[in-house]
Amino acid sequence: MKGKLLVIGFGPGSFEHITQRAREAIQESDMIIGYKTYVELIQGLLTNQQIISTGMTEEVSRAQEAVKQAEAGKTVAVISSGDAGVYGMAGLVYEVLIEKGWKKETGVELEVIPGISAINSCASLLGAPVMHDACTISLSDHLTPWELIEKRIEAAAQADFVVAFYNPKSGRRTRQIVEAQRILLKYRSPDTPVGLVKSAYRDREEVVMTNLKDMLNHEIGMLTTVVVGNSSTFFYDDLMITPRGYQRKYTLNQTEQPLRPHQRLRKEAEPWALDQEEAVKQSASTIEAVQNTREEKAASRALAEEALQAILGESTSAVVHQPIESIFEVAVSPGLANKKFTPVQMTTLAEVVGEKGTMEYTPDHQIKLQIPTAQPDVIIKKLQAASFLLSPVGDVFTIKACDFCDGEKSDAIPHTEELQKRLGGMDMPKELKLGINGCGMACYGAVQEDIGIVYRKGAFDLFLGAKTVGRNAHSGQIVAEGIAPDDIVEIVENIIHEYKEKGHPNERFHKFFKRVKNVYGFDYQDITPKIKVEPAPCGD
Ligand code: SAH
Repeated sequence: MKGKLLVIGFGPGSFEHITQRAREAIQESDMIIGYKTYVELIQGLLTNQQIISTGMTEEVSRAQEAVKQAEAGKTVAVISSGDAGVYGMAGLVYEVLIEKGWKKETGVELEVIPGISAINSCASLLGAPVMHDACTISLSDHLTPWELIEKRIEAAAQADFVVAFYNPKSGRRTRQIVEAQRILLKYRSPDTPVGLVKSAYRDREEVVMTNLKDMLNHEIGMLTTVVVGNSSTFFYDDLMITPRGYQRKYTLNQTEQPLRPHQRLRKEAEPWALDQEEAVKQSASTIEAVQNTREEKAASRALAEEALQAILGESTSAVVHQPIESIFEVAVSPGLANKKFTPVQMTTLAEVVGEKGTMEYTPDHQIKLQIPTAQPDVIIKKLQAASFLLSPVGDVFTIKACDFCDGEKSDAIPHTEELQKRLGGMDMPKELKLGINGCGMACYGAVQEDIGIVYRKGAFDLFLGAKTVGRNAHSGQIVAEGIAPDDIVEIVENIIHEYKEKGHPNERFHKFFKRVKNVYGFDYQDITPKIKVEPAPCGD
C-alpha cells in the first residue's frame, strides 16, 4: 500500500488564514513533518498525528524523511509557512522524489496545498502595495550565489517592479539588505515607500512604514518581509498604496482621469502602449528573420545577448531613473468674453504643443491641447504668460459666454467673471456647461446649454436642462425671468452645488433635473414630445 504526501502551506500563522483544504489535509495525515516553530503554530489543529519536528536548516532531511514514510504507506503532511511552493518545501520534496525516479502515475501520490504567502499577507497589512507587477526576491545566499541575487535586484529595480524581499536578514547575514538598498537607490527615489512587516498575523506582529533612505534605521530580522514600492507607490493615511496603473492623463486640477472604454490603448491616451501596427510589421519581419541564413541568426543572437548584457551586466551607465511622461490635457481660450486670439498667443500655442502634442478646436469656443510631458507646470506658466484662460478638461464646470458684442454690451461681464472665479473648473458628476449671453438675442445659444442665463433689460432669465446633443435635443426650460444681477451668482452656485451633491456619477444635468423634479426651488415641467424619438447612437 502506497502512502501519500501532502505538502501544505498553512499561511502566515493565524488560524483564520489557514485554508479549509489545509486543515482537512492536516486531519487526514498520520504524521506531520516540519520546522519546530511551524508545528507549534498549527498545534491547535493536531489530533493524534505523529510529529517529526526538526531545526530550520534540516530541510533536505525533512523532505527525505517524508518521502521515506510515504513510501512505507503513511499519509505524511509536510508543512511550510505561507505557501509551500514559495521558498518552501514543495520543490524540495519533488527533488527528492525525482532523484529516486518517481513518476506521477506509479509513485506515491502527492498533493501541494496552496497557502497565503508572505507577499500577500504582508501586503494586506500595509494597504495595497502589490497592485502592480511585483516580484519576490530571497536575500538568502545559502543556496543561491550572491552574484545572481544581486543581478535580480538590479533587474527588478531597473524595471520598476514592486519587490518583496524574503529572508532579508539573519544573525549572520546582515550585509545583504544593505547591498539591496544600495542597488535600489541607483534607480529609485530615496523617498520610495517601504513597508516592513514582521510576523504578519502572528503574536508579535509589527508593521513599520518607512522609505528607501531610512529603511535600515528600523529593525529587520528573520521574520520580516520588506516590501519596496515602485515609482508610483505612495503613502496615504499610514497605508502604502501602489496605483493600479501608471498615470495616463491629467488636466489642470486633477491628477488622473479615468479613460472611457473607447479611449483605451489609443496612442493619444496611452502613449507608451505597444504600437499595434508596428507590432504587426515586426512580427512579419520576425518571420523573415527566421528564414534568414545562419550567419544572420548568429548576428541577431549577438545583438540579443548584448541587450541582455546591458540589462544584467556590470555596466549600468546607460540607465537612469526617468520620470514617466503623461499626457497633460488643458483647454485654452483667449478669455471669457474675449474671442480674439493674438499672434503671441498663436505662437505660444505652437511652441508648447511642439511636435508631439495636439491642438483640437472644440465646439465649446476652446482649443484643447494634449501634450506629453513630465512638467505640466512649465506649460501652464507659458500659457498664463500669454494671457490665456485655462480650463481643465473632463467632467468639470465650464462657462461659455458670448463676446458681449465686443464688449459693447458689457453689463453682464462682471457677473460672468465672478462665476468663473468661484466655480470654473469645479468637478461635476458629468461635464456641465453654463451659457451666458449678454442680450436677448442669445446668439451664442445660451439656452442650448445645460444651464443658460440671458441678460435682458438689466436682469437675468434662467434656463435649465437643455439636452445639448442627440435627435431629441432640446433647449432648456425657462424657470425664471428678471433675476436681479446681485442674486444671479448665488443662484447658479446653489444649483450647481445641488447637482454636484445629488447627481449620480455620469448623470447629465438634464437627466438629473428630470429625475429630481426640483433644483434649488426651480420646478421641472414635463413636456414630452408627441412623437417618441429613439436615441440614435453614433454611426446609425
Ligand atoms: N513559504 C513562505 C516563505 C518562507 S521564507 C511563504 O510563502 O511566505 C521565510 C521568509 O518569509 C521570512 O524571512 C520572511 O521574509 C517571510 N515570512 C514568512 N512568514 C512571514 C510572516 N508571517 N510575516 C512576515 N514575513 C514572513
